[in-house]
This record gives sequence, C-alpha cells and structure tokens, in this order.
Amino acid sequence: MVDVFTKKKRSEVMSQIRGRGNRGTELRMIELLREHGITGWRRNRPVFGRPDFVFPAERVALFIDGCFWHGCPRHYNRPSSNTEFWDGKLLKNRTRDRLVTRTLKKAGWTVLRVWEHALQGTGKAVVARVRKVLAH
Ligand SMILES: [Zn+2]
Repeated sequence: MVDVFTKKKRSEVMSQIRGRGNRGTELRMIELLREHGITGWRRNRPVFGRPDFVFPAERVALFIDGCFWHGCPRHYNRPSSNTEFWDGKLLKNRTRDRLVTRTLKKAGWTVLRVWEHALQGTGKAVVARVRKVLAH
C-alpha cells in the first residue's frame, strides 16, 4: 500500500489522533482557522486545563466543549440507564470546566469556550468570536 501522506503530514495526523478530546471537532476547528487565515495558534501546549488551542501571544485559551460531555443545553441527551453515573460524570466535567476557566482568567488568560455544535455548518459565529478575542 502506498503511503498517501508525506512524513511531516503523517506525524501531524498521528499527533492529532493521539491528542485527547474529539478529533473530528478539533480537525474542523483547524480547518476553520486555516480557511479564515487565523494564525498564531498552537495545540497540545502544557497550559492548565489543556486547552484545545492556545494563542500564546494574545494569551487566549480556546476550548471546544463536546455537547455530550459538557452538557450542552441544546443537545445534551441524558442517558436513560446508569443515570447516577452519567449525572455524576456531567457534574464533575462542568465543575472542572468552571475551575479551569476561573484559574486561567486569574492567570491573565482570555478563555473562549465553544460548543461542538457551533463548528457545524460554516462555523462563522465561532470564527467571529475568535477574531473578536484576538483583537482585544
Ligand atoms: Zn450542542
């Protein structure tokens, strides 16, 4: 079988697979950033809370919150079995999200949280939000 990726591209792809979180949504975010010429972002930076993207120069941390794992008000679908486990899990995730946001803000970061669903379609609203925080 022919390897369709160059060596550089291959390691890029592999690092994305290894990363935590939802690969599909992160790849979509990368696509949007590239499409709109937004630069200066880095991934997998050792920043508290492990933001999905950071803009080190502007001190902006960007998180993409999965609709299920983070309890999106529009799309969270409470599982019908093991409810105690899932409710506990969601509560834990949300508590952690708040802690991470608070801690980063105290350290001078601007925290941007984007719902996974906002990346669907054109993603225009997300791009606008990113541009806005970067401009400040
Ligand atoms: Zn959602």
